[in-house]
Amino acid sequence: MKQLKRIKGTQDILPEESYKWTALEQAIRRVMLLYNFYELRTPVFEQTELFARGIGQLTDIVSKEMYTFLDRSKKQLTLKPEMTAPIIRAYLENKLYAKTPLNKIYYIAPLFRQENPQAGRLRQFHQFGAETLGSAGSEADVEMIDLALAVYERLGIKNLKLLINSVGDSTCRIPYKKTLQEYIKPNLDKYCADCQRRFHENPIRILDCKNETCIQLNQQAPKISECLCDDCQTHFDQVKLQLRQLNIPFKEDPCLVRGLDYYTRTVFEITSDALGAQNSICGGGRYDLLAEELGGMPTPAVGFAAGIERTLMAAEKQNIQLGQPPRLDVFIVSLGDEAKKHTLFWLKSLRAKGVHAEQDFLGRSVKAQMREANRQNARFVLLLGENELKEKVFSVKIMDQSKQVEISFNDIIDFLVKQIIDN
Ligand SMILES: [Zn+2]
Ligand SMILES: [Zn+2]
Repeated sequence: MKQLKRIKGTQDILPEESYKWTALEQAIRRVMLLYNFYELRTPVFEQTELFARGIGQLTDIVSKEMYTFLDRSKKQLTLKPEMTAPIIRAYLENKLYAKTPLNKIYYIAPLFRQENPQAGRLRQFHQFGAETLGSAGSEADVEMIDLALAVYERLGIKNLKLLINSVGDSTCRIPYKKTLQEYIKPNLDKYCADCQRRFHENPIRILDCKNETCIQLNQQAPKISECLCDDCQTHFDQVKLQLRQLNIPFKEDPCLVRGLDYYTRTVFEITSDALGAQNSICGGGRYDLLAEELGGMPTPAVGFAAGIERTLMAAEKQNIQLGQPPRLDVFIVSLGDEAKKHTLFWLKSLRAKGVHAEQDFLGRSVKAQMREANRQNARFVLLLGENELKEKVFSVKIMDQSKQVEISFNDIIDFLVKQIIDN
């Protein structure tokens, strides 16, 4: 029969590498807790409309990349392609604002986009991120940036660059759009087809275009950061001042924009030179107008999202060890049928005391069992044969010291717990 394969653009995270994911996730959870963020888990799928409204119909994600399907009752559902819209949906639906006016939330989640696997893009990928809901103050923006950087610092990832910009708010963006359109209009036919489409609906996204010609044409374009209203200017100045107070280096990038109307004021990106051309490792910003877009009350909010696969890649490029492959504490080697009957009991007793223990399940010879204990790098090997059973002792090999001792059945648990747990 034909053997089945995984879907293109997905990957299996095998036992020999999954400990790195665990270590990364533990580091994220630890830092999130230090900053007083709490986890929110949302379902893997949502109504399609949540993302159409929460990301925007005109974006590539919504128009080309979402995993959208009809379920058996003909409801249109989508596997989540990003986390901000689901978090806001859950925040509004569960009335988290009624419990406390400030909610600090984080997530670690799988996301889905139907991207081109030929280009090395994953169709199931993973992100971690955070959102602060309820505060309009620049302190929340700065804490968010500091939080993202703190995760990377804990992991030991170095040489990161922080880029920031302000995209204004609804007050200053309307006149800016006009100024920008006036600049683009004389050359509009030279822009790519996507940009020509964006010109009327969302001209700010033209600044974000990766097309070489468009990048050239945009070089002299008026910058939103030069057209901020007084409130937005003050907010941006405060963000920069506080970053300096925290000794967080940054660079202003006037071309860093989030093209959607619900993004407001601060936007930021963290890049790693370990990642080559596609060097963005984390992106974030303020989105004060999204909650209303999703039918909720006005809620100022700021957040970031970071790719887990990209973070792992950056760590690898910098030769950073994420976690340690787990090391077995005890392997029980048995000789003879009678001895075999006792090993599961001892395993259970050891495990109940917190000792990482294993035995042979394949009826292997003593020699092969010893090889397996070595392969798993066991600290201690307990030998149980006919003699040991008669004497009620284990022969204990202390592997790191190439030493062998005899320990009675009565004392073995205490002996190992003392050696392993108390050390
Ligand atoms: Zn373009
Ligand atoms: Zn403004």
